[in-house]
Amino acid sequence: MSLNNKTILPGATIGIIGGGQLGRMMALAAKAQGFRVAVLEPTADSPCGQVADIEIIGAYHDREAISKLAAVSDVLTYEFENIDADTLQWICEQAYVPQGPELLAITQDRIKEKAMIRQAGIEVVPYAAIESMDNLLAKISSIGFPAVLKTARGGYDGKGQLVLKTFQDVSKAKALLDHGTCVVEKWIPFDKEISVIVTRKVDGETAFFPVGENIHVDNILHQTIVPARISIGLQLRAIEKAKQIADSLRLVGTLAVEMFVTEEGSIYINELAPRPHNSGHYTIEACATSQFEQHIRAICNWPLGSTELLKPAVMVNLLGEHLDSLYTEIPALPDWKIHVYGKKEPRHKRKMGHVTLLRETVEEALTEVEASPIWRTVKEKIGG
Ligand code: ADP
Ligand code: MG
Repeated sequence: MSLNNKTILPGATIGIIGGGQLGRMMALAAKAQGFRVAVLEPTADSPCGQVADIEIIGAYHDREAISKLAAVSDVLTYEFENIDADTLQWICEQAYVPQGPELLAITQDRIKEKAMIRQAGIEVVPYAAIESMDNLLAKISSIGFPAVLKTARGGYDGKGQLVLKTFQDVSKAKALLDHGTCVVEKWIPFDKEISVIVTRKVDGETAFFPVGENIHVDNILHQTIVPARISIGLQLRAIEKAKQIADSLRLVGTLAVEMFVTEEGSIYINELAPRPHNSGHYTIEACATSQFEQHIRAICNWPLGSTELLKPAVMVNLLGEHLDSLYTEIPALPDWKIHVYGKKEPRHKRKMGHVTLLRETVEEALTEVEASPIWRTVKEKIGG
């Protein structure tokens, strides 16, 4: 089906491929706007399944299951980028998927993604595609140490990555290469990591959320700080880059653009995510429109909402190891916005929820987070 400007009205059903926390928060926003929600996920009672009207149980590549989802839905979207691109392409031909199949196919492959960003005239981290150990040995000298090897497909939260500090580390690369093509990237000694979340519609209407400053611990997002503690000039340049990428992709829906900012003020694009993003969870309380509502607006062809920042905000993730301590602290936290995703097993390092603090300044919020016992293990790690 060709991309057109179909307006979807309350009462219609939005079908979400993927039942995780992003789907759950998308569904909650959609329901506030009067939509019904159907979800496709391999297991019942998923974070999104718990709040959806219709749960379809099946694998993301199961064409029969995805057809069932399409049959009960007026519009389809996804919350997860590792669904099978061929299956998405196939369902795009028979159901209304305003985001189309290309964005997902590009962003699930680091090599295609980097090539696309370069084509849009934007700088990415110097990289090379790697097929074999010989290939890596030949290319590592032009990239230089330290470097990082990443599987081209399927990685998240630092999974499928290996930092290479010396030639000795190169011998450890075989396990990753056995998974398939990789990319080797120069290690960027960044000053800050930031992200820009951009939403765009079929007609080109585009909106950006305020730039978030992201702090990762063990490759997993720990905190997002907004406004980012970088100059306004850098923020504007970051937004301009996100705009160029969104236009060049003819984006429909929401895209997160992760970037590195160096001390000299260079900005490199790290990676893209074709959906609402963990670093945009702060928008639920801190912005006039949340990233989830905005995504629903975009795919339903509603006008995009204001992305104005209502108050400085800090979002902190809750991993499995933080939950018990959060629960103990709840009575003492009247001004914390607490989100828990309904996942059954609070496994170590698994994203279970997040909190958002709105304060007069980000420093105030950071001091409060710092003083909390919930992230003790994180503090030990970052020496706080
Ligand atoms: P994921 O898909 O796991 O999010 P990323 O490529 O975003 O993968 O890597 C996770 C984190 O690892 C980044 O947010 C950053 O902190 C660090 N990282 C990744 N690549 C580089 C790099 N080339 N230079 C410096 N840090 C990096
Ligand atoms: Mg990332």
